[in-house]
Amino acid sequence: MAAAANPVELGFVEQRTPWKLRSRYFVSKVGGCPAWLRLNNLPDRSNMLCKTCGKPLIFLLQVYAPLLEIESAFHRTIFFFMCSNGRCCRRNDNQNLVVYRSQLPRRNEFYSYDPPADSDYNEKASTDPSAAKYQPLCCICGCVASIKCPKCSEADYCSEDHRDCDWKWNHQNICGKNCTGAGAKRKKATNHFLLPEYELVTETEELPSSGPEKSDEEKMKEYRQFMQSAKAPKEMQDMPLDDLDAVMKKNDKAFNKFQKRIRLEPEQVLRYHRGETPLWVSAEHVPSSKDIPDCECGAKRVFEFQIMPQLLNYLSLDSVQDSIDWGTLAVYTCSKSCEKGMEGYVKEFVWKQDFSDDHR
Ligand SMILES: [Zn+2]
Ligand SMILES: [Zn+2]
Ligand SMILES: [Zn+2]
Ligand SMILES: [Zn+2]
Repeated sequence: MAAAANPVELGFVEQRTPWKLRSRYFVSKVGGCPAWLRLNNLPDRSNMLCKTCGKPLIFLLQVYAPLLEIESAFHRTIFFFMCSNGRCCRRNDNQNLVVYRSQLPRRNEFYSYDPPADSDYNEKASTDPSAAKYQPLCCICGCVASIKCPKCSEADYCSEDHRDCDWKWNHQNICGKNCTGAGAKRKKATNHFLLPEYELVTETEELPSSGPEKSDEEKMKEYRQFMQSAKAPKEMQDMPLDDLDAVMKKNDKAFNKFQKRIRLEPEQVLRYHRGETPLWVSAEHVPSSKDIPDCECGAKRVFEFQIMPQLLNYLSLDSVQDSIDWGTLAVYTCSKSCEKGMEGYVKEFVWKQDFSDDHR
């Protein structure tokens, strides 16, 4: 195996006890509530609404990606939110998606200077520090809350939408009965408004250096197996073999390159390669530099990581959500990782690329 000069870090999902995924441990994770980095000045709900349906976005994933050469980015996390309504998911369109960056210097007001010690890894210690100590958080989604249940004035919500969801699902039975206590917490474990929670672990991609090239027949066999496995992009699993062969033979270099590369590690859900080029799934709808807006600070944005279609297999989407789909979601962030990310949560940019029609 040869190590490339700037290798890609691949992300994989792993089951993890929820308390191990809290802010204190600086994790990368998928689903559940965000483990906020900066614990106050959270993004305002009005900046986290779907531009298509107007409803609150929910948390998809966060990537802990410190940049040690930048003092203000000793801790640094990128947060990704999406609309859970599948009808808002449109082809090559990012209107149902939002990305935020947050960063902190090593010496900061929230976390200790030294990383968590082994003795800090226990459920009791895990809740401290928490964003809930700095502002009320929505008991459905973990984002900043601005309203309460009008009856008991105890339960906090980010929006009327989440208040109404909670009322129907759970809160009407416990309203006024110590509803923010232990009983309410237990029920939270099965919160079906959020996506299933996993840790996102990374591993360096290794590319085969040389060795005997596989024959076309072998490649085709592997490709078919991959495409019919649960790990392949959903829309391809049911494709008849003849169509698969046609796809394979079609002269679509971008798609073939994509398949060739992910076949090495078919379960990858994320590719982290800051400052490099994403692995596009198609030659269509590839952004030019003018399609990527500059950061608020005036600096150019660079590619940082991309979310792969394989992640969809882990999200347990229901029938309405089932139309949530992507080829890849490429996240671009400020090339300077400017200090705006230290004061609060600063918006970054996502480019959604779907598979071309030939591969749908
Ligand atoms: Zn929506
Ligand atoms: Zn909420
Ligand atoms: Zn209530
Ligand atoms: Zn910037």
